[in-house]
Amino acid sequence: KSRARMMTDKDKKVTFQDVAGLKEEKEELEEIVDFLKEPGKYIQVGARIPKGVLLEGPPGTGKTLLAKAVAGEAGVPFFTISGSDFVEMFVGVGASRVRDLFEDAKKNAPCIIFIDEIDAVARRRGTGMGGGHDEREQTLNQLLVEMDGFGVNEGIIVMAATNRVDILDPAILRPGRFDRKVVVGRPDVQGRFEILSVHARTKPLGEDVDLRQIAQTTAGFTGADLENLLNESAILAAKQARMYIVQEDIRRAFVKVGIGSEKKSRVISEKD
Ligand code: ATP
Repeated sequence: KSRARMMTDKDKKVTFQDVAGLKEEKEELEEIVDFLKEPGKYIQVGARIPKGVLLEGPPGTGKTLLAKAVAGEAGVPFFTISGSDFVEMFVGVGASRVRDLFEDAKKNAPCIIFIDEIDAVARRRGTGMGGGHDEREQTLNQLLVEMDGFGVNEGIIVMAATNRVDILDPAILRPGRFDRKVVVGRPDVQGRFEILSVHARTKPLGEDVDLRQIAQTTAGFTGADLENLLNESAILAAKQARMYIVQEDIRRAFVKVGIGSEKKSRVISEKD
């Protein structure tokens, strides 16, 4: 049994509609959805369907959400595991988890395997600091073996996410492995407005709440930050037994969730 969590249609289905902004990213992934839905179309003309897609971008920008949406749109099971789950103290455990994961996936193909924090296993070999890096190399080698091993048209697409593409072992980016890369950026003002709108669907807003204005004052926020901002606002409203969020809740939530010094420097470099 692998450590991965399998999600199927019975879980709440995520679709591209739940992913706000990220228009280009979604367009690139439409193709993957189509491969999963109609592999025959591609096989017929001799096209090689990609095996791996690497999603690259800062934490909280929607990489996991995008991967789930690809599975949701294609209507296929989604196996999710974090790279850090592979990295164990005991040599051999990680490699056997990788093997189990691909075995489960093959039984459930067509499907998606999603590896979050792939950098935890796929860091450039020979750069480990001290103990445990033999283990990581073994795990990475097993991942490469599995990716090379399944046939191109077996209906498994491996998606992986990282915010440290700079430390990845170049071997994983070779053709037939993660040969597609989708860069997932921080949202611009329009993207922030769309993300706020998606998350406001389930949150009643008072008349004085202006999502456009909030979008303008949240440069540097990721989707996760914006979701958190609205959630904190809802909590503040509930505490006052109010049935809807008012601008003052959002102002107070903004102070509470703050915008860390790390983010401040990002804001300065943002051009929107
Ligand atoms: P990490 O690298 O930390 O895993 P991630 O890029 O995978 O981050 P997600 O886990 O997909 O980020 O995003 C966290 C949450 O933030 C989502 O569940 C969602 O609520 C919200 N979110 C992020 N981006 C978007 C978006 N583009 N549209 C709507 N919601 C978003």
